[in-house]
Amino acid sequence: MRHTSYIEISRQAYRQNMDFLKTDIGPKIEISVVVKGNAYGHGIENIVLLAEENGISHFSTFSADEAIQVHNSSKTGSEVMIMGMLENEDLEEIIQKGISFYVFEFDRLMEAINVAKKLQIKAKIHVEVETGFHRTGFEWEEKERLLKILNENCEQLSLKGLCTHYAGAESISNYVRVRKQIKLYKKFKNWFEAQGLFFEKYHTACSAATLLYPETKMDLVRIGITSYGFWPTQETYMYRFQSLPSTNKNPLKRLISWKSSVLNIKSVKMGEFIGYGSSYMAPRDMKIALVPIGYGHGYSRLLSNQGKVLISGKIVFVTGTVTMNSIAVDVTDLEKVKKGDEVVIIGVQGEFEITVASFGESSQQVNYELLTRLPLDIPRKIVE
Ligand SMILES: *Cc1c(COP(=O)(O)O)cnc(C)c1O
Repeated sequence: MRHTSYIEISRQAYRQNMDFLKTDIGPKIEISVVVKGNAYGHGIENIVLLAEENGISHFSTFSADEAIQVHNSSKTGSEVMIMGMLENEDLEEIIQKGISFYVFEFDRLMEAINVAKKLQIKAKIHVEVETGFHRTGFEWEEKERLLKILNENCEQLSLKGLCTHYAGAESISNYVRVRKQIKLYKKFKNWFEAQGLFFEKYHTACSAATLLYPETKMDLVRIGITSYGFWPTQETYMYRFQSLPSTNKNPLKRLISWKSSVLNIKSVKMGEFIGYGSSYMAPRDMKIALVPIGYGHGYSRLLSNQGKVLISGKIVFVTGTVTMNSIAVDVTDLEKVKKGDEVVIIGVQGEFEITVASFGESSQQVNYELLTRLPLDIPRKIVE
């Protein structure tokens, strides 16, 4: 059975991104590839495979189910780290599999200690501290109680990391807030060390922090969006532009392409309306191609009468509303278009390209959102 669209992931683009990141970050700092949100829409299995081909052996996920997927996909026994959701009832399986996880409140910490005791396996934990993101993390006032528990249960715990997350390192408007966070994180680190408590790795940086605040890189960086070929924001790119090597001013390459094919061709007389309602009236006799992707596949309704796709190497526009399963595009000026022809929604065809950014801007989504909303069931395959 044919799916209505498919996604291609470029191996070569991934290698280029990784080469750039490795050089930029330097050889002493470990890269953890963040694969939450189905690897930012690319498919966890695909990205684990490509990352390991590029020498990566550390992955970060949001939840336990994603971590198990990485664990099962890994061919080289990579380390896996859960940064968010983990039910106490899943702790046993996670500890048994040697997967490490964030601890940011006492309930999870105590339960992890209990399970580790029972299994006689150390729980690999990353202690997350609150520095100003105000989502998760131990508060400064909790540090004494935390220290006591960590010390008393050192037999059950492997202290893999001390970590935090910045609240918007991708924008200069958050500069003061991020600076304060860096300071508070260091205060935590110094305080624990003064009490004789050390962690294997100190890690705080996401893509934007890695690119803009070198001191946040420490022992390990958690890289998501840039490994998939996108700058966290336009601003990040502007900031880094001058410091990029003159031979490589555009080092990040999009891996993903999203393609479909023409389902049907139809002639529409001038003055007729196209699709639901009356948002588009044919201004001339037209030829319309129906493409079987709609808002149900992540193609936003905001792209009604706005979106563009590539057919026969030309840019063509969406006419009328985006429906649940399809869009109609104006192919009046394309001579040879026929049923089954390739349609590029994101990617290159001939001389033209539809970027994720252009697509995202017209639907008011950031890269992160657009990518992760691509449905799980669209087939994804790695291409060279
Ligand atoms: C998502 C996430 C990252 C990676 O962020 P990018 O901007 O995609 O690099 C790093 N750390 C944490 C805690 C995250 O949730």
